[in-house]
Amino acid sequence: MRIVLSGPPGVGKGTQGDRLAEILKIVHIATGDMLRQEVSEKTELGLRAKAHMDAGTFVPDEVVIGMIEERITQPEAVNGFLLDGFPRNVTQAESLDEMLSHHDMGLDHVVFMEASENLLVERLAGRMLCGACGFGFHRHYSPPRKEGVCDRCGGELYQRHDDREDVIVHRLHVYQEQTAPLLDYYSDRPAFCRVDADGTMNEVYERLVLAMKD
Ligand code: AMP
Repeated sequence: MRIVLSGPPGVGKGTQGDRLAEILKIVHIATGDMLRQEVSEKTELGLRAKAHMDAGTFVPDEVVIGMIEERITQPEAVNGFLLDGFPRNVTQAESLDEMLSHHDMGLDHVVFMEASENLLVERLAGRMLCGACGFGFHRHYSPPRKEGVCDRCGGELYQRHDDREDVIVHRLHVYQEQTAPLLDYYSDRPAFCRVDADGTMNEVYERLVLAMKD
């Protein structure tokens, strides 16, 4: 099973991607997570990516395309994969198609999650993540039992640099300009579907499962 899970920042790709990948026993490949790992390890790639990420702009295509090709051809991806945050523009989508056909693979589902801009801003601005285990909380919708502390592992919670309100607005603008055109790129394919992501975690999950059954 090979899936592209797309949609604007804050729509819930990470949360739903984790759950779907676990159920389907496929790897969840999130370029944002991979890049944040590189940044925290201060690798050369991470140092190159950091300024782009903090500003809410894209890391150069060749960097992310290289990362993806390496991951999807690893033995751990033999059952399939769910791509979250890639492709993010038409160049990346074309590269993905080339890569897949080169390795004799295809996409089973291309899912676009959608929500209103107000909801996205609210979700992103309230988001807090655990620095130790990566688990996500929200200041209003799912606050931790103790402020600033992860319920699961006791780790310290932090706000992503790019979840500041000014950067959020910029990220949503970049999404409209660069990623939204992918709707046209994929919309003719049988694998394509759209899912309303305004709802609880469980409601949206059910919709995703249903959309992928059709
Ligand atoms: P995300 O965690 O998906 O919101 O990604 C966080 C940041 O990582 C983005 O704002 C970009 O700076 C960078 N990034 C993630 N995926 C990509 C991609 N496919 N192409 C370019 N930059 C990316």
